[in-house]
Amino acid sequence: MENVVIIGSGPAGLTAAIYAGRSMLNPLVIAGHAMGGQAALTAEIENYPGFPDGISGPDLAQLFQRQAEKFGARIEYDIVTSVDFSRHPFKITTYGGEIEAKTVIICTGVSPRKLDVPGEKEFAGRGVSYCATCDGFFYRDKVVAVVGGGDAAVEEGLYLTRFAKKVYLIHRRNRLRANPSAQKRAEQNEKMAFVWNSVVTEVVGDDKVTGLRIRNVETGEESLLPVDGVFVYIGQVPKTDLFVGQVEMDEAGFIITDRRMHTSVPGVFAAGDVQGRVLAQVVTAAGSGAIAAMEAERFLAELEGEPYPERKHG
Ligand code: NAP
Repeated sequence: MENVVIIGSGPAGLTAAIYAGRSMLNPLVIAGHAMGGQAALTAEIENYPGFPDGISGPDLAQLFQRQAEKFGARIEYDIVTSVDFSRHPFKITTYGGEIEAKTVIICTGVSPRKLDVPGEKEFAGRGVSYCATCDGFFYRDKVVAVVGGGDAAVEEGLYLTRFAKKVYLIHRRNRLRANPSAQKRAEQNEKMAFVWNSVVTEVVGDDKVTGLRIRNVETGEESLLPVDGVFVYIGQVPKTDLFVGQVEMDEAGFIITDRRMHTSVPGVFAAGDVQGRVLAQVVTAAGSGAIAAMEAERFLAELEGEPYPERKHG
Protein backbone atom coordinates (compact mmCIF):
# COMPACT_ATOMS: atom_id res chain seq x y z
CA MET A 1 0.00 0.00 0.00
CA GLU A 2 1.48 3.30 -1.09
CA ASN A 3 1.01 6.57 0.82
CA VAL A 4 1.38 8.78 -2.24
CA VAL A 5 1.53 7.80 -5.89
CA ILE A 6 2.58 10.61 -8.20
CA ILE A 7 1.67 10.06 -11.83
CA GLY A 8 4.06 11.98 -14.07
CA SER A 9 7.64 13.19 -13.75
CA GLY A 10 7.65 16.78 -15.02
CA PRO A 11 8.40 19.74 -12.74
CA ALA A 12 5.03 19.32 -10.95
CA GLY A 13 5.48 15.59 -10.30
CA LEU A 14 9.12 15.82 -9.23
CA THR A 15 8.46 18.79 -6.94
CA ALA A 16 5.54 16.90 -5.38
CA ALA A 17 8.02 14.04 -4.89
CA ILE A 18 10.55 16.34 -3.20
CA TYR A 19 7.92 17.65 -0.78
CA ALA A 20 6.29 14.27 -0.11
CA GLY A 21 9.76 12.78 0.34
CA ARG A 22 10.75 15.44 2.85
CA SER A 23 7.52 14.66 4.71
CA MET A 24 8.71 11.06 5.04
CA LEU A 25 5.85 9.73 2.94
CA ASN A 26 8.12 7.57 0.77
CA PRO A 27 6.35 8.60 -2.45
CA LEU A 28 6.28 6.53 -5.60
CA VAL A 29 6.63 8.40 -8.90
CA ILE A 30 5.37 6.66 -12.02
CA ALA A 31 7.52 8.50 -14.50
CA GLY A 32 6.15 7.43 -17.87
CA HIS A 33 8.62 6.79 -20.70
CA ALA A 34 10.95 9.66 -19.95
CA MET A 35 11.84 11.98 -17.10
CA GLY A 36 11.12 15.69 -16.99
CA GLY A 37 7.92 16.26 -18.97
CA GLN A 38 7.67 19.17 -21.41
CA ALA A 39 10.40 21.07 -19.58
CA ALA A 40 12.92 18.38 -20.47
CA LEU A 41 12.11 18.97 -24.13
CA THR A 42 12.91 22.66 -23.81
CA ALA A 43 16.30 23.79 -25.06
CA GLU A 44 16.87 26.69 -22.71
CA ILE A 45 14.89 27.76 -19.64
CA GLU A 46 15.68 31.38 -18.87
CA ASN A 47 13.02 32.24 -16.33
CA TYR A 48 13.30 29.61 -13.61
CA PRO A 49 14.54 31.42 -10.51
CA GLY A 50 18.01 30.57 -9.33
CA PHE A 51 19.53 30.16 -12.78
CA PRO A 52 20.41 33.68 -13.96
CA ASP A 53 22.33 32.32 -16.94
CA GLY A 54 19.53 29.92 -17.91
CA ILE A 55 19.64 26.14 -17.77
CA SER A 56 18.80 23.48 -20.31
CA GLY A 57 15.51 21.63 -19.77
CA PRO A 58 17.17 18.19 -19.51
CA ASP A 59 19.71 19.51 -16.96
CA LEU A 60 16.96 21.04 -14.82
CA ALA A 61 14.93 17.82 -14.95
CA GLN A 62 17.99 15.86 -13.78
CA LEU A 63 18.44 18.21 -10.83
CA PHE A 64 14.76 17.83 -9.88
CA GLN A 65 15.13 14.07 -10.04
CA ARG A 66 18.31 14.04 -7.94
CA GLN A 67 16.65 16.17 -5.30
CA ALA A 68 13.53 13.98 -5.20
CA GLU A 69 15.58 10.80 -4.86
CA LYS A 70 17.71 12.38 -2.17
CA PHE A 71 14.54 12.67 -0.07
CA GLY A 72 13.53 9.07 -0.64
CA ALA A 73 11.23 9.27 -3.67
CA ARG A 74 11.15 6.06 -5.69
CA ILE A 75 10.94 6.60 -9.42
CA GLU A 76 9.69 3.91 -11.78
CA TYR A 77 9.67 4.16 -15.56
CA ASP A 78 6.25 2.64 -16.02
CA ILE A 79 3.00 3.63 -17.73
CA VAL A 80 -0.39 3.86 -16.03
CA THR A 81 -3.04 2.09 -18.09
CA SER A 82 -6.08 2.68 -15.87
CA VAL A 83 -7.12 4.09 -12.52
CA ASP A 84 -10.05 3.40 -10.22
CA PHE A 85 -10.82 6.29 -7.90
CA SER A 86 -14.32 5.03 -7.05
CA ARG A 87 -12.88 3.00 -4.18
CA HIS A 88 -10.40 3.74 -1.40
CA PRO A 89 -7.56 2.84 -1.36
CA PHE A 90 -7.36 3.90 -5.00
CA LYS A 91 -6.33 1.34 -7.58
CA ILE A 92 -3.75 2.16 -10.23
CA THR A 93 -2.96 -0.32 -12.96
CA THR A 94 0.32 -0.04 -14.84
CA TYR A 95 2.18 -2.22 -17.33
CA GLY A 96 4.13 -3.41 -14.29
CA GLY A 97 1.12 -4.47 -12.20
CA GLU A 98 -1.43 -3.11 -9.75
CA ILE A 99 -0.81 -0.54 -7.06
CA GLU A 100 -3.02 0.51 -4.16
CA ALA A 101 -2.62 4.08 -2.98
CA LYS A 102 -4.00 6.16 -0.13
CA THR A 103 -3.46 9.36 -2.14
CA VAL A 104 -2.72 10.12 -5.78
CA ILE A 105 -1.22 13.25 -7.33
CA ILE A 106 -1.92 13.57 -11.06
CA CYS A 107 0.88 15.40 -12.87
CA THR A 108 0.49 14.00 -16.37
CA GLY A 109 0.91 17.36 -18.09
CA VAL A 110 0.18 18.09 -21.70
CA SER A 111 1.19 16.90 -25.13
CA PRO A 112 1.72 18.92 -28.31
CA ARG A 113 -1.37 19.87 -30.29
CA LYS A 114 -1.24 18.41 -33.80
CA LEU A 115 -1.77 20.34 -37.03
CA ASP A 116 -4.23 17.71 -38.16
CA VAL A 117 -3.43 18.10 -41.87
CA PRO A 118 -2.57 15.52 -44.56
CA GLY A 119 1.05 14.41 -44.40
CA GLU A 120 1.57 15.25 -40.73
CA LYS A 121 1.21 11.70 -39.47
CA GLU A 122 2.91 10.13 -42.48
CA PHE A 123 6.04 12.26 -42.09
CA ALA A 124 6.25 12.20 -38.27
CA GLY A 125 9.89 11.45 -37.52
CA ARG A 126 10.79 12.05 -41.18
CA GLY A 127 10.67 15.82 -41.14
CA VAL A 128 7.71 16.53 -38.86
CA SER A 129 8.80 17.13 -35.27
CA TYR A 130 7.36 18.46 -32.04
CA CYS A 131 10.70 18.81 -30.27
CA ALA A 132 13.47 21.12 -31.45
CA THR A 133 15.74 20.03 -28.59
CA CYS A 134 15.46 16.41 -29.72
CA ASP A 135 15.67 16.87 -33.49
CA GLY A 136 17.20 20.30 -34.20
CA PHE A 137 20.68 18.83 -34.61
CA PHE A 138 19.58 16.91 -37.73
CA TYR A 139 18.87 20.16 -39.57
CA ARG A 140 22.37 21.60 -39.76
CA ASP A 141 22.47 23.99 -42.75
CA LYS A 142 18.94 23.00 -43.75
CA VAL A 143 15.76 25.02 -44.10
CA VAL A 144 13.04 24.46 -41.51
CA ALA A 145 9.68 25.93 -40.59
CA VAL A 146 8.15 26.41 -37.17
CA VAL A 147 4.38 26.70 -36.90
CA GLY A 148 2.82 28.82 -34.14
CA GLY A 149 3.12 32.26 -32.60
CA GLY A 150 3.43 31.57 -28.86
CA ASP A 151 6.43 31.34 -26.53
CA ALA A 152 7.27 27.82 -27.59
CA ALA A 153 7.24 28.54 -31.34
CA VAL A 154 9.39 31.64 -31.06
CA GLU A 155 11.86 30.33 -28.47
CA GLU A 156 12.29 26.96 -30.13
CA GLY A 157 12.54 28.72 -33.51
CA LEU A 158 15.40 30.77 -32.12
CA TYR A 159 17.04 27.60 -30.85
CA LEU A 160 16.78 26.09 -34.33
CA THR A 161 18.75 29.00 -35.82
CA ARG A 162 21.80 27.44 -34.15
CA PHE A 163 21.61 24.63 -36.69
CA ALA A 164 19.42 25.56 -39.65
CA LYS A 165 20.45 28.12 -42.25
CA LYS A 166 16.89 29.46 -42.39
CA VAL A 167 13.92 29.22 -40.04
CA TYR A 168 10.49 30.25 -41.29
CA LEU A 169 7.97 31.03 -38.59
CA ILE A 170 4.48 30.43 -39.93
CA HIS A 171 1.73 32.07 -37.91
CA ARG A 172 -1.99 32.27 -38.57
CA ARG A 173 -2.17 35.96 -37.54
CA ASN A 174 0.11 38.94 -38.10
CA ARG A 175 1.04 39.32 -34.43
CA LEU A 176 2.91 36.99 -32.12
CA ARG A 177 1.67 36.16 -28.66
CA ALA A 178 5.17 35.22 -27.43
CA ASN A 179 6.87 37.24 -24.70
CA PRO A 180 8.36 40.54 -25.95
CA SER A 181 11.95 39.57 -25.16
CA ALA A 182 11.78 36.47 -27.40
CA GLN A 183 9.91 38.42 -30.09
CA LYS A 184 12.64 41.03 -30.19
CA ARG A 185 15.38 38.44 -30.50
CA ALA A 186 13.46 36.69 -33.28
CA GLU A 187 12.96 39.91 -35.21
CA GLN A 188 16.65 40.68 -34.94
CA ASN A 189 17.79 37.23 -35.98
CA GLU A 190 18.83 37.22 -39.63
CA LYS A 191 18.10 33.54 -40.04
CA MET A 192 14.44 33.97 -39.09
CA ALA A 193 11.73 34.91 -41.58
CA PHE A 194 8.05 35.38 -40.75
CA VAL A 195 5.20 34.02 -42.81
CA TRP A 196 2.19 35.93 -41.47
CA ASN A 197 -1.53 35.22 -41.73
CA SER A 198 -0.84 31.72 -42.95
CA VAL A 199 -1.81 28.17 -42.10
CA VAL A 200 -0.28 24.90 -43.18
CA THR A 201 -2.75 22.83 -45.19
CA GLU A 202 -0.49 19.90 -46.09
CA VAL A 203 2.94 18.48 -45.37
CA VAL A 204 4.45 17.22 -48.61
CA GLY A 205 7.45 15.06 -49.38
CA ASP A 206 8.81 11.85 -50.85
CA ASP A 207 10.60 9.64 -48.37
CA LYS A 208 10.94 12.72 -46.15
CA VAL A 209 9.50 16.21 -45.94
CA THR A 210 10.29 18.50 -48.87
CA GLY A 211 7.78 21.29 -48.34
CA LEU A 212 4.61 22.71 -46.86
CA ARG A 213 1.48 23.73 -48.62
CA ILE A 214 0.38 27.01 -47.13
CA ARG A 215 -2.76 29.10 -47.38
CA ASN A 216 -2.85 32.81 -46.69
CA VAL A 217 -5.97 33.27 -44.56
CA GLU A 218 -6.43 36.89 -45.71
CA THR A 219 -6.10 36.43 -49.45
CA GLY A 220 -6.88 32.71 -49.77
CA GLU A 221 -3.74 32.36 -51.87
CA GLU A 222 -2.06 28.92 -51.79
CA SER A 223 1.68 28.41 -52.08
CA LEU A 224 4.33 25.76 -51.60
CA LEU A 225 7.14 26.53 -49.19
CA PRO A 226 10.16 24.26 -49.72
CA VAL A 227 11.53 23.10 -46.33
CA ASP A 228 13.50 20.13 -45.04
CA GLY A 229 11.57 19.93 -41.81
CA VAL A 230 8.70 21.40 -39.81
CA PHE A 231 8.45 21.89 -36.06
CA VAL A 232 4.91 22.20 -34.74
CA TYR A 233 4.36 24.45 -31.71
CA ILE A 234 0.68 25.33 -31.80
CA GLY A 235 -0.17 24.80 -28.17
CA GLN A 236 -0.87 21.81 -26.02
CA VAL A 237 -3.62 19.40 -25.04
CA PRO A 238 -3.96 17.87 -21.56
CA LYS A 239 -3.05 14.23 -21.05
CA THR A 240 -6.16 13.23 -19.17
CA ASP A 241 -7.74 10.35 -21.15
CA LEU A 242 -7.01 8.04 -18.22
CA PHE A 243 -9.10 10.11 -15.86
CA VAL A 244 -12.28 10.55 -17.87
CA GLY A 245 -15.21 9.66 -15.61
CA GLN A 246 -12.91 9.55 -12.56
CA VAL A 247 -12.38 13.24 -11.74
CA GLU A 248 -14.08 16.40 -12.94
CA MET A 249 -12.59 18.13 -15.96
CA ASP A 250 -13.37 21.28 -17.88
CA GLU A 251 -14.63 21.34 -21.46
CA ALA A 252 -11.06 21.22 -22.81
CA GLY A 253 -10.14 18.18 -20.71
CA PHE A 254 -8.05 19.96 -18.05
CA ILE A 255 -8.56 18.62 -14.52
CA ILE A 256 -10.49 20.97 -12.28
CA THR A 257 -8.94 21.61 -8.87
CA ASP A 258 -9.44 24.09 -6.10
CA ARG A 259 -6.63 26.35 -4.92
CA ARG A 260 -5.23 23.52 -2.81
CA MET A 261 -4.99 21.22 -5.84
CA HIS A 262 -7.85 18.99 -4.64
CA THR A 263 -9.75 17.35 -7.48
CA SER A 264 -13.40 16.32 -7.20
CA VAL A 265 -12.28 13.11 -5.45
CA PRO A 266 -10.99 13.49 -1.86
CA GLY A 267 -7.43 12.16 -1.73
CA VAL A 268 -6.78 12.72 -5.44
CA PHE A 269 -4.85 15.87 -6.30
CA ALA A 270 -3.66 17.37 -9.58
CA ALA A 271 -0.78 19.73 -10.27
CA GLY A 272 1.05 21.38 -13.14
CA ASP A 273 -0.09 21.93 -16.71
CA VAL A 274 -2.74 19.22 -16.42
CA GLN A 275 -4.79 21.53 -14.19
CA GLY A 276 -3.16 24.93 -14.46
CA ARG A 277 -4.31 27.14 -17.29
CA VAL A 278 -3.41 30.52 -15.89
CA LEU A 279 0.33 30.39 -16.42
CA ALA A 280 2.02 27.30 -17.84
CA GLN A 281 5.52 27.68 -16.50
CA VAL A 282 8.04 25.46 -14.74
CA VAL A 283 7.84 27.67 -11.68
CA THR A 284 4.03 27.43 -11.42
CA ALA A 285 4.07 23.68 -12.07
CA ALA A 286 6.62 23.25 -9.30
CA GLY A 287 4.57 25.46 -6.97
CA SER A 288 1.37 23.52 -7.53
CA GLY A 289 3.25 20.23 -7.10
CA ALA A 290 4.46 21.41 -3.69
CA ILE A 291 0.93 22.37 -2.63
CA ALA A 292 -0.49 19.05 -3.82
CA ALA A 293 2.10 17.12 -1.81
CA MET A 294 1.39 19.08 1.37
CA GLU A 295 -2.34 18.53 0.90
CA ALA A 296 -1.73 14.81 0.40
CA GLU A 297 0.18 14.83 3.68
CA ARG A 298 -2.78 16.56 5.36
CA PHE A 299 -5.21 14.03 3.89
CA LEU A 300 -3.11 11.13 5.18
CA ALA A 301 -2.85 12.66 8.64
CA GLU A 302 -6.62 13.11 8.79
CA LEU A 303 -7.08 9.54 7.59
CA GLU A 304 -4.96 8.35 10.51
CA GLY A 305 -6.84 10.68 12.86
CA GLU A 306 -3.69 12.71 13.56
CA PRO A 307 -3.81 16.46 14.20
CA TYR A 308 -2.37 18.41 11.29
CA PRO A 309 -0.99 21.95 11.60
CA GLU A 310 -3.06 24.47 9.61
CA ARG A 311 -1.00 26.02 6.83
CA LYS A 312 -1.66 29.41 5.44
CA HIS A 313 -2.54 28.83 1.85
CA GLY A 314 -6.05 29.77 1.07
P1 NAP B 1 0.32 28.90 -26.83
O1 NAP B 1 0.85 30.01 -26.02
O2 NAP B 1 -1.06 28.41 -26.60
O3 NAP B 1 0.46 29.35 -28.36
C1 NAP B 1 -0.01 28.55 -29.38
C2 NAP B 1 0.20 29.26 -30.69
O4 NAP B 1 -0.22 28.39 -31.75
C3 NAP B 1 -0.59 30.55 -30.81
O5 NAP B 1 0.18 31.51 -31.46
C4 NAP B 1 -1.80 30.13 -31.64
O6 NAP B 1 -2.27 31.14 -32.49
C5 NAP B 1 -1.22 29.04 -32.52
N1 NAP B 1 -2.21 28.02 -32.87
C6 NAP B 1 -3.08 27.37 -32.08
N2 NAP B 1 -3.79 26.47 -32.76
C7 NAP B 1 -3.36 26.57 -34.04
C8 NAP B 1 -3.71 25.90 -35.23
N3 NAP B 1 -4.63 24.93 -35.25
N4 NAP B 1 -3.07 26.25 -36.36
C9 NAP B 1 -2.13 27.21 -36.36
N5 NAP B 1 -1.74 27.88 -35.26
C10 NAP B 1 -2.36 27.56 -34.12
O7 NAP B 1 1.23 27.59 -26.77
P2 NAP B 1 2.79 27.37 -26.47
O8 NAP B 1 3.63 28.33 -27.19
O9 NAP B 1 3.01 25.90 -26.67
O10 NAP B 1 2.91 27.66 -24.93
C11 NAP B 1 2.08 26.96 -24.01
C12 NAP B 1 2.29 27.55 -22.65
O11 NAP B 1 3.63 27.33 -22.23
C13 NAP B 1 2.06 29.05 -22.63
O12 NAP B 1 1.44 29.39 -21.45
C14 NAP B 1 3.44 29.62 -22.70
O13 NAP B 1 3.54 30.90 -22.11
C15 NAP B 1 4.24 28.56 -21.95
N6 NAP B 1 5.64 28.56 -22.41
C16 NAP B 1 6.45 29.48 -21.84
C17 NAP B 1 7.75 29.57 -22.24
C18 NAP B 1 8.59 30.61 -21.57
O14 NAP B 1 8.11 31.31 -20.71
N7 NAP B 1 9.84 30.75 -21.92
C19 NAP B 1 8.25 28.74 -23.24
C20 NAP B 1 7.39 27.82 -23.83
C21 NAP B 1 6.06 27.76 -23.41
P3 NAP B 1 -2.98 32.47 -31.91
O15 NAP B 1 -1.89 33.33 -31.40
O16 NAP B 1 -3.66 33.01 -33.11
O17 NAP B 1 -3.93 31.99 -30.86
